[in-house]
Amino acid sequence: MVLPHDFDAAHERAEGLARRTSLGVGGRPRWLFEPTSAEACAEIVRMCHREGVPVRVLGGGCNLLVRDGTLEGAVIATRQIRGFEIHPDRVVVGAGQGFPDLVRKAIELGIPGLPGCPGIPGSVGGVVFMNAGGRFGSVADALIAVTGVTAEGACFERAVEPGDLGYRSSPFAGSIITGAVFRRDPAWTAERGAALFRQAMDWKRETQPLSARSAGCMFKNPSRGHSAGRLIEEAGLKGLMVGKAMVSTRHANFIVNLGGATAEDVHALIARVQDAVRERQGVDLELEVQVWS
Ligand SMILES: Cc1cc2nc3c(=O)[nH]c(=O)nc-3n(C[C@H](O)[C@H](O)[C@H](O)COP(=O)(O)OP(=O)(O)OC[C@H]3O[C@@H](n4cnc5c(N)ncnc54)[C@H](O)[C@@H]3O)c2cc1C
Repeated sequence: MVLPHDFDAAHERAEGLARRTSLGVGGRPRWLFEPTSAEACAEIVRMCHREGVPVRVLGGGCNLLVRDGTLEGAVIATRQIRGFEIHPDRVVVGAGQGFPDLVRKAIELGIPGLPGCPGIPGSVGGVVFMNAGGRFGSVADALIAVTGVTAEGACFERAVEPGDLGYRSSPFAGSIITGAVFRRDPAWTAERGAALFRQAMDWKRETQPLSARSAGCMFKNPSRGHSAGRLIEEAGLKGLMVGKAMVSTRHANFIVNLGGATAEDVHALIARVQDAVRERQGVDLELEVQVWS
């Protein structure tokens, strides 16, 4: 296969994804592209599509478990597609913008729900794709539209309807989100936002190992009212280790990298947790973290 010149630069740029993921594991992709605009992103997607090169999208790398060794295909990192456009009734944000920046701005700008999402790391594109959130608020509370690029490289804009986003799921699989539009609501005063932010942040600090290397919650909660963390804790698995990967002693649904863990360690630990919970509580835990194998 004869590859266009840009693939050479993308090959040079490719570095181990352990450096770009919060869990700190993962090998080197064959090609790493870093477009600075939606149009540049679309061009790269079209080029990869033409050449039959599969594409994956990297946001902040905060919910990813990437395999060790070489990762086939191209990775498009969105972190250079940034920026805010502030309008009276809405805010348009680039997909590569850090979500914590948006959460802080949401207090002043009156974006519903988002002030309840402190301590959720990652990019705006990543949180939209995952419909990230928690007990105090979520992306779905305020998202009204998404711009992106299809798998074939066409730019699109799509309104988001109620019900489009589910629990840690969105209808954007296969596309690359390049921007998101959130509504503003005058009922969300700065005082209301700041109070919710503080309440949510206090809860996060008390319950989650925020400074450890992790990918956040490993498993989805199996059903309403059933917490994966509680099931893992009740199975007595806090502190269980494989290599340098450990079930957090603070929050059992977090697997932390104690330093030097490999993807293989983390996968082995995940399997041990799933087996133990199935055996002891009869529940199948499904991964929330996205696996690149
Ligand atoms: C300490 C800690 C606490 C956390 N707390 C929470 C929490 O309270 N609630 C919660 O929901 N999550 C939480 N997370 C998980 C994580 O922050 C979210 O899942 C977030 O959405 C990940 O965004 P990201 O940009 O890092 O995505 P990535 O990890 O880069 O990618 C995750 C998935 O999204 C896809 N993706 C990323 N960007 C795009 C894009 N632009 N277009 C299309 N697909 C894309 C990727 O291909 C991948 O499949 C936590 C993580 C950590 C480390």
